[in-house]
Amino acid sequence: MTDMTRRGLIAATTAMGAGALMTPAAAAPADQGAATMRDGKGADILGPRNPEREAEEPFTLAPPSTDHGTMPNLKWSFADSHMRLEDGGWARQTTVRELPISKAMAGVNMRLKANVVREMHWHKEAEWAYMLKGVARVTSVDAQGRTFAEDIAEGDLWYFPSGIPHSIQGLENAQADGCEFLLVFDDGAFSEDSTFLISDWLTHTPRDVLAKNFGLPEQTFAALPKTELYIFPGPKPGPLEGDRLGGAGPVPDSFAYRMLKQEPIRLKGGTVRITDSTVFKASKTIAAALVELEPGGLRELHWHPAGDEWQYYIEGQGRMTVFGSESKARTFDYRGGDVGYVPFAMGHYIENTGTTPLRFLEMFRSPTYSDVSLAQWMALTPHALVAAHLRVDTSVIDGLTTTKRLVVPG
Ligand code: MN
Ligand code: MN
Repeated sequence: MTDMTRRGLIAATTAMGAGALMTPAAAAPADQGAATMRDGKGADILGPRNPEREAEEPFTLAPPSTDHGTMPNLKWSFADSHMRLEDGGWARQTTVRELPISKAMAGVNMRLKANVVREMHWHKEAEWAYMLKGVARVTSVDAQGRTFAEDIAEGDLWYFPSGIPHSIQGLENAQADGCEFLLVFDDGAFSEDSTFLISDWLTHTPRDVLAKNFGLPEQTFAALPKTELYIFPGPKPGPLEGDRLGGAGPVPDSFAYRMLKQEPIRLKGGTVRITDSTVFKASKTIAAALVELEPGGLRELHWHPAGDEWQYYIEGQGRMTVFGSESKARTFDYRGGDVGYVPFAMGHYIENTGTTPLRFLEMFRSPTYSDVSLAQWMALTPHALVAAHLRVDTSVIDGLTTTKRLVVPG
């Protein structure tokens, strides 16, 4: 029994008195009506319900009176994404097909147990990754034959430029059996099922051409897999140094970056790490921020002048209202494993509505991170002018800080 139902039963029992006939239908209205009312508006729901789902999104069920108009959907949970189960791992994606507004970026959540391999492949889109748990070994070779191999642990990133081939393998480690990570691609139409796989190509090349290409007898390729491998158990890798093959030297800008090791901007109410191509030089098309908000903390009212924002919630509970001009605004609740999206230039805030830290990632299809702070804009505009818009005394605007705060405490 959920808390909501239990409170409903208690309320109904009290109203009817002892001995009254209790049926589920009679028990429901008192509390459930309240959940779909705000500021005196609304009514109870008479039809079918999904209480677990409703409880996850209280501000969708009963939006604040400041919400208005038709806004696109800006939320998708990976829990609703199709799970592709493979031998020793899985993958699920949140793309423009799941979240239609997300045209600029797409995401994939993937799990590889120890020694399990995501098959050698490449794709048209650039790939940015955040390691959620465990350790993986990633390798790549660029167009100049320069090489890259690194072990990626929790809070580390990798970035593979568009069209550059790579491999990923889960490693035995103290934290987990292999790893789980988030991938972000710089095109919302990306499909994890449409990457260029090495086995798929070789299987679809005439054997005599393969023989000629590699200078080997045709028999060499007799055991090629008949279908793509995609995710499969592989050989246990040796020490990292052994996998750093020479080639034309290492890639000039490492494809890996230790985001959690970056010193955060510490603020009252939380911390922010901004990682873009100014510090992670290889990451030319994806800029990111990792935000941690204390309970009650607020990622201040702001917008981004450089493009759409793709969010991934790592842990905690958060709430965002997005302002879309023309009096349009809509509020969404998020928790770990959810994706949020903010279309270009739309104003928004994110508030920690839980009792534990809220941690989330913001990604942008841009070489550099940028945002405009509403409070800073107001503090640096003639104060009497700003005061006239808000119908407040000029002294109110005088009191605003001119420093961008990013985060404010609860
Ligand atoms: Mn890839
Ligand atoms: Mn933002």
